Amino acid sequence: METQENELCIVRDLMNQDDDEPPSYPVLSVSFQHNHSVAIPLRSEKEKAVISERSQAFMHNFFHGVTEKDWNNWHWQVKHSVRTTDQLGRFIRLTEEEISIVGKKSHTLPLRITPYYLSLLDRNDPEHALRKAFVPAVDEQISSPGEVLDPLSEEHHSPAPNIVHRYPDRVLFLVTGFCAAYCRYCTRTHMVAKEKCHVGINAWVAGLQYIEAHQEIRDVIISGGDPLTMPDFHIEYLLNRLRRIPHVEIIRIGSKVPVVLPQRITRSLVNILKKYHPLFMSIHFTHPDELTPEVKEACEKLANAGIPLGSQTVLLKGINDEVEIMKKLVHGLLQNRVRPYYLYQCDPIPGSGHFRTPISKGLEIIRGLRGHTSGYAVPQYVIDAPGGGGKIPLLPEYYQGHEEGYAKLMNYEGRVFRYPDDVG
Ligand code: SF4
Repeated sequence: METQENELCIVRDLMNQDDDEPPSYPVLSVSFQHNHSVAIPLRSEKEKAVISERSQAFMHNFFHGVTEKDWNNWHWQVKHSVRTTDQLGRFIRLTEEEISIVGKKSHTLPLRITPYYLSLLDRNDPEHALRKAFVPAVDEQISSPGEVLDPLSEEHHSPAPNIVHRYPDRVLFLVTGFCAAYCRYCTRTHMVAKEKCHVGINAWVAGLQYIEAHQEIRDVIISGGDPLTMPDFHIEYLLNRLRRIPHVEIIRIGSKVPVVLPQRITRSLVNILKKYHPLFMSIHFTHPDELTPEVKEACEKLANAGIPLGSQTVLLKGINDEVEIMKKLVHGLLQNRVRPYYLYQCDPIPGSGHFRTPISKGLEIIRGLRGHTSGYAVPQYVIDAPGGGGKIPLLPEYYQGHEEGYAKLMNYEGRVFRYPDDVG
């Protein structure tokens, strides 16, 4: 199936649901295994969600006649996402370069941005951080040495369809190839928006069987693509199946949905998620401009459901590669009850040279955070080693060596201290 058809199927399936209707809805009883069933609400209770002034103005200007109910319906947001140059040009002033590239067939990713996220983009400034993260650029066509489609060799560490097993006790379960918006620097370019990543319950059987058969797996990270773009029913099915495997201790979900499609964090979704604790969520944030009232509300719903929230951020040139921007982001995350977790060096996918910073930039940012702000606000800076070596943490050189029974340690101000280290 072509990518476009694949995406159309997903959008069509989503549009056939409506989770924004009043209560007293019918309930579907679904048998997950021989004798076990779970009641799944076909429609959730009516819920009102916040719409920021910025998004209200955008709605008024570009979606005249659209109701708040429509705007807050995540299916509506997915259906009305922009996917072509012509559509995008109606919302932002495209440069000649952007026009020349958006329509071209990309070897990387298609264009997709939700109306909500579009409302955050600067209409006139092509250098605006969020715009650069999602609008295709001419530089994507330039390949640099060391860039490959699957830099983390996920396909070589895949013992079963949709499973990546790199570390001893945990696996990645790539359950969908669809995202609400496609980040131009995506490390999963080899599988997102591609027909080779099958979606749906039948496609997960082999992956679930693999996890069941490997008792050393105590941690499953559900990722993709973006798992929260799946219908509630699929999410519930998957969590239920995983929770029934005795050796799976924790489940994690990796998602950018709370940021690009906060309308998806509905009461019915949260009610499903909170049944499957211990459940953690890693949310992909890029820039402080993403911390809107809508995102705050989405994070609050998840946190109130007892889900520990962590952030994952990719270090991106010209987008978030300044200490002050990163400090604003991590402070805002904590205020939104999200603990900064990882800061990733950008992976070398084809055409990513314009996004990648030198490693010294990441170290400079960590140096500018550690000691200068709360420890809770400091993420771990890591490089995911090309070839599948896993995450390697990087730290500025606080340990300065050993001298006459003392360790020499440099503090955040650059002052050197000695610690007696001659025992044992
Ligand atoms: S949301 Fe994640 S998987 Fe989807 S395009 Fe962005 S980085 Fe890739």
